[in-house]
Amino acid sequence: RRPARPTRLTAPGATADGLPVALLANVADPAGAHVAAAAGAEGVGLLRTEFRFLGRTVAPGVEEQVDAYRQVLAAFPGRKVVVRTLDAGADKPLPFVTARDEPNPALGVRGLRTSWEHPQVLDDQLVAIARAAASSDADVHVMAPMVATVDEARDFVDRCAVHGLPVAGVMVEVPSAALRAGRLLAHAHFASIGTNDLTQYAMAADRELAGLARLSTSWQPAVLDLVAATCAGGRERGRPVGVCGEAAADPALAPVLVGLGVTSLSMTPRALPDVAAVLSTVTAQRCRELADVALDADGADEARAAVRAALPVLADLG
Ligand code: PEP
Ligand code: MG
Repeated sequence: RRPARPTRLTAPGATADGLPVALLANVADPAGAHVAAAAGAEGVGLLRTEFRFLGRTVAPGVEEQVDAYRQVLAAFPGRKVVVRTLDAGADKPLPFVTARDEPNPALGVRGLRTSWEHPQVLDDQLVAIARAAASSDADVHVMAPMVATVDEARDFVDRCAVHGLPVAGVMVEVPSAALRAGRLLAHAHFASIGTNDLTQYAMAADRELAGLARLSTSWQPAVLDLVAATCAGGRERGRPVGVCGEAAADPALAPVLVGLGVTSLSMTPRALPDVAAVLSTVTAQRCRELADVALDADGADEARAAVRAALPVLADLG
């Protein structure tokens, strides 16, 4: 009989030859933070802050937000927690910041763009994050969703600094940001690739449409090219690049992402043990070879099949 599968991490993430790969959790509320901590996550790579905003007709006040963020930070004393500012719009409409009548909401005023018309919502949120950070031991980072230009990256980082938040990064989920990552990272302290949206925008395939699943996968070599471009930008500027989209939770794709140059993976907590197990069987060099295998494929199915065939450990994970 097979030994029972581990349900929590017992050691920091690393390749077989000791290259550290921080294994972090995606968290959507305080209860999720406790689940992530119990699973042994090394920190939080993506705190989706929408939980305090969804279903409301006006934005939550600063005090209410401080309380909510504190509860999350308290679960990770001494650990990194990356707080993403509000990502309203598209699949997360909010009446007080997003329009109802956009013909293409996924291409509309969403993510950081909502702050053009509603700067106070972002400023209040940054005030609340800074206050929660000041009263916690967590190592708080902030990042903005849907950044598309260098100007947006620079303005966001400046704004965070004004609010006393010195470590500010950008999500890379728009192809323009991936292609120009080196320039964005001249300002931003880190990048975190949101492969769900990056795939949607690279493939022009609505992430909500099940019928487009064959396009909507991060195994698409074009998406991996964009990940590679982002990592090249990170190396150029000496800035870390993580992945916080669903791709990070795929145990076969994780070594490919590491081979492309990704230094941290953030995922749903239940995926952590399998991703850790696979990484512990491959060297950094092997990860680079697997990345080449995937990039060399003509399509997503071919890339996935070739990498899976080269990772027999996956069979043990079932
Ligand atoms: C992503 O787009 O990959 C991501 C992590 O953000 P969300 O799924 O919340 O849009
Ligand atoms: Mg996204």
